[in-house]
Amino acid sequence: MTIRGLVPTSLVDYPGEMCTTLFFGGCNLRCPWCHNRELVEEPWALPEIKEEEVYPFLAERQNWIQAVCLTGGEPTLAPGLFDFISNLKKMGFKVKLDTNGTRPRVLSQLLEARLVDYVAMDIKGPPPKYPRAAGAPVEMAAIEASIKLLKQGTSAYEFRTTVIPGLLTEGDLLAMGKWLAGAACYVLQRFVPRENIIAEEYRHLPPGDPQFLRQMAARLEKYFARVEVRD
Ligand code: SF4
Repeated sequence: MTIRGLVPTSLVDYPGEMCTTLFFGGCNLRCPWCHNRELVEEPWALPEIKEEEVYPFLAERQNWIQAVCLTGGEPTLAPGLFDFISNLKKMGFKVKLDTNGTRPRVLSQLLEARLVDYVAMDIKGPPPKYPRAAGAPVEMAAIEASIKLLKQGTSAYEFRTTVIPGLLTEGDLLAMGKWLAGAACYVLQRFVPRENIIAEEYRHLPPGDPQFLRQMAARLEKYFARVEVRD
């Protein structure tokens, strides 16, 4: 396992639940606006948290933590993920997986075994802009397969997009609405610049405009059961 970070208590990483958040090191994408530069590019430089340390840590908190959020980096790249999540489920935790959707086979195995209770899948942009938004070549068939799997509704899920000023336009968001139409939940996330963003030119962009996100959310409502703005 490649766990490189842990937030003991979070109220924001699992909808409606208090959770512990685990950060997996390494990612197969390089979104230029990603906030987790060290985790993605130099995970080895961060202290490793061993799987064997996680179980007793969580066991001590079982009375007030109901859920565990697995984020990254990209957790589906971690060898041993299936067994690790199985163990968390045996301990009684709900499990949320944050993923970029590039590994539908892993996602499918987890869903089939009912090991994940909630999946948040990033949608980086409309298909023509995917490589630019993800900072890497992306196999769109894999993204499409993950979207299809989640839409089957085996677990609760959301698709979510960080709306990067200058990268994603009104037209892009409307195109994404049509592309993802019929999904249970779509979340528009506000971009906030930070110093630890992967690409330097994105560190000094203006923050996203909450008003624009709310307007777009209203226009996208017809495509989804629920649309949220996270700012
Ligand atoms: S935002 Fe992009 S680069 Fe960063 S962890 Fe997610 S998929 Fe990887």
